[in-house]
Amino acid sequence: MINITKIFFFKLEMSHNLPDLFVCVLILNFEAKCGIISYNMEAFYVKYSLKIAEYSVVAQNGVCRVWVNHCRTSGYGVINVQCPLTGAWNVTNAHRLSYIVFNRQYNNINGLDVSHLCHNRSCVLAEHLVVEPHATNSSRTKCLLRGVCQGHGPHPNCLLQYAVNNNG
Ligand SMILES: [Zn+2]
Ligand SMILES: [Zn+2]
Repeated sequence: MINITKIFFFKLEMSHNLPDLFVCVLILNFEAKCGIISYNMEAFYVKYSLKIAEYSVVAQNGVCRVWVNHCRTSGYGVINVQCPLTGAWNVTNAHRLSYIVFNRQYNNINGLDVSHLCHNRSCVLAEHLVVEPHATNSSRTKCLLRGVCQGHGPHPNCLLQYAVNNNG
């Protein structure tokens, strides 16, 4: 069966336009009634996908999507996120949130880094984000310094063609 929600998010990612919230809620109710999804988690993913779209714009390189809301001095975007399970609020890195919502991985990346293949710390484009151990993430610094990706075992190569000079 075709996953309507996946198509919906694919369209959102491609167009960078905000979707019609009414259509969005209809899809969610349909899938929840059919037992296809957990309503609370899907509502969380939709809510924060919209926020990520709202708080980011296409970068000068035409590909990355950079955060234009609050950023840390280090350059990483941040956002206050309400946990769908406990209701608690936490300040979260925007790129980490983006990986979680676009890959539906709320509970499965604990203890791992979300790395930027593009080396742009403010980028929240899901295609430029990968989950890996901290040591692998750190090893990417060398690639930026040398201007050529050195390879990262089973993890994807850096996308240095999109990098700006931020040591990311
Ligand atoms: Zn990027
Ligand atoms: Zn690399």
